[in-house]
Amino acid sequence: MKDPYLGNPKKTIEVLQKYDFVFQKKFGQNFLIDPHVLDKIMNAADIQKEDFVLEIGPGIGTMTQYLACRAREVFAVEIDRALIPILEDTLKDYGNVTILNQDILKVDIKKLAEEHNQGKPVKVVANLPYYITTPIIMGLFEEDVPVESITVMVQKEVAERMQTGPGSKDYGALSLAVQYYARPYIAANVPPNCFMPRPKVGSAVIRLTRHEKPPVDVKDQKLMFRIIRASFNQRRKTLVNGLKNASDLEFSKEDIEKALSACGFPMGIRGEALTLQDFADLTNQLLTT
Ligand code: SAM
Repeated sequence: MKDPYLGNPKKTIEVLQKYDFVFQKKFGQNFLIDPHVLDKIMNAADIQKEDFVLEIGPGIGTMTQYLACRAREVFAVEIDRALIPILEDTLKDYGNVTILNQDILKVDIKKLAEEHNQGKPVKVVANLPYYITTPIIMGLFEEDVPVESITVMVQKEVAERMQTGPGSKDYGALSLAVQYYARPYIAANVPPNCFMPRPKVGSAVIRLTRHEKPPVDVKDQKLMFRIIRASFNQRRKTLVNGLKNASDLEFSKEDIEKALSACGFPMGIRGEALTLQDFADLTNQLLTT
């Protein structure tokens, strides 16, 4: 197998010119052109010889080459049809790569894990298109897909939101959702000049290692997430008002106040002060009202 030869500006430009490739803004195309960043992603993802890796959005195959050299098998899903002939060319020397021209949101990943990894959890690695970062990550966690870890390049702010806790302005529903399913770790900050074309925002590599078991015991997980969303939808309101006004919750002001008091929270508390454990306790308490 060839050593990875993409991942620098010269080679990337050569490939793009050979195929007259036109960047599609709507697909969030910013290709990596820095080998140091690619090494950092490989280290954060901790790819081993026996691994089956799902890559979302391979672009021209830059990171795919790196993954193919380390893993047993790589399955790369790319939405842009124009990139398929390019990928067939850049990956022709890597016999352990399969390319699928599809929208990742339409791929049955559970079936993929059964067919390629004996149903065992897969490692997901991606330089994600920023316009669908959250649906992709939450889809992987929520839909009972066997995933061991997700190592992704995302917008720097989004990585910070995933990793932060109460007391930070970035803390919100995404932080709690991610931390319910996984342990986040920001492995690197990546400036715009590491991509072609340069994005307007800074980026970061974040590894989300899935918990074997959620860190809190909650009797109704869906209800907890409705409560979390309602608490942050009206961020500046008190928790009582946020929950009372939520259209998909049916608790009275009295029920909410009773639950808050049973949990030992002050009546004027806001959602942004609550930890994941607090939201689990509140949910369990509201279920008893
Ligand atoms: N992995 C390449 C790299 O690092 O150079 C490309 C990364 S680029 C930020 C995102 C890639 O995801 C693009 O190739 C884009 O066409 C692809 N993409 C966008 N939306 C997608 C979707 N819904 N499903 C699969 N691929 C998608």
